Amino acid sequence: MIVFMIDFKAAPLRSCFSPPIPQIAEAAELLSRAADAHLAGDAAEAERLIRAADMPPIAAWTRSIFGKVNPDLHAFRQTADAPPLVAKADRPRPRMPGVAIKKAIEARDGLRCRFCGMPVIRPQVRARLHALYPDAARWGPRDREQHAALQCMWLQYDHVLPNSRGGDSSPENVVVTCAPCNFGRGNWTVAEVGIADPRDRAPGPVEGWDGLDRLLEAAPHPVAREAARAPDETPAREPEFDSGLADALDEFEEALADRGAWVDVSPRRARIYRWRAPGGQTFTLGAACADGTFETYLVGWPAETSGPLPLAHAFLRLLAGALGGAVRETPTGHQWHVRGPDGAQPRLTLVLERSDACLSVIDAYLAALAGAVNRT
Ligand SMILES: [Zn+2]
Repeated sequence: MIVFMIDFKAAPLRSCFSPPIPQIAEAAELLSRAADAHLAGDAAEAERLIRAADMPPIAAWTRSIFGKVNPDLHAFRQTADAPPLVAKADRPRPRMPGVAIKKAIEARDGLRCRFCGMPVIRPQVRARLHALYPDAARWGPRDREQHAALQCMWLQYDHVLPNSRGGDSSPENVVVTCAPCNFGRGNWTVAEVGIADPRDRAPGPVEGWDGLDRLLEAAPHPVAREAARAPDETPAREPEFDSGLADALDEFEEALADRGAWVDVSPRRARIYRWRAPGGQTFTLGAACADGTFETYLVGWPAETSGPLPLAHAFLRLLAGALGGAVRETPTGHQWHVRGPDGAQPRLTLVLERSDACLSVIDAYLAALAGAVNRT
């Protein structure tokens, strides 16, 4: 990376690289109204509002911060006692905070950037919006394929002292930020870019912006209701995932969100992940508590969606293989249970223990689907 050395001894500290432009607050308001319209059942209005929030000036502003290094904006300067770059193997672990620490950080900071103050949106919420409105809430791997406001307002957990400079992932060192403030700073310390330490200021108001989290509290998918029902009896008490398992699921869920999945049911009792795959079919993968200790894993898709079934069958078998089981088709023909080799249901914890294997199968499936769609 090219680093510009500027003598900024006399420059005052700023709170962020560049104050958010007014269109960002307007976009937040439009997205909030879109969430309300969606929850009220007005999909056309929600779609219109999401498109209105996709403003080119926001994309240009974001790119000016996390795009190419700009000596005027990034203003790197040498500082006394700057911690050196730490070799990858020697950096504090874990590289990112776990779920419990993220929750504590969010409770303290709210869903607003600690540097510039802009409201932010979790990746899970963005993925949900994209799945509901794939054209309006556009999101692809390249910068310019991403909705301007959803990209700019992307919630990040930023190490004030970068992990590459020896910073750990404790709540003392990590703050909620927007994507430009996090990506713009990269491996620099706040002092090196002439930005004031955000921890020296109180966080902004925690109230007043829910990050559109209300979109995640939508009605359960029918698959989840079916999975949550015990086969022969109604449990006296609704079982719940224990907190350790729920935390592990949160981690898995974040990795899935990067692949465009969203959670479709009440997080304490069942998790159903859904994807809107290229070509439009919706695919589900999920788990539900049957008796409080044992979970059924389901894979499949709703009957109303169609897709390349041979490809889906191949995917389900691969996934079952990653879990050390086999696929059993249900009488409905569009859902499958993954079964262990002895016929037992594999526990959900198995999925989490083998999350890398599961994620790579999912990646391969999505890539194959994209290929199948492109060929037609
Ligand atoms: Zn920011």
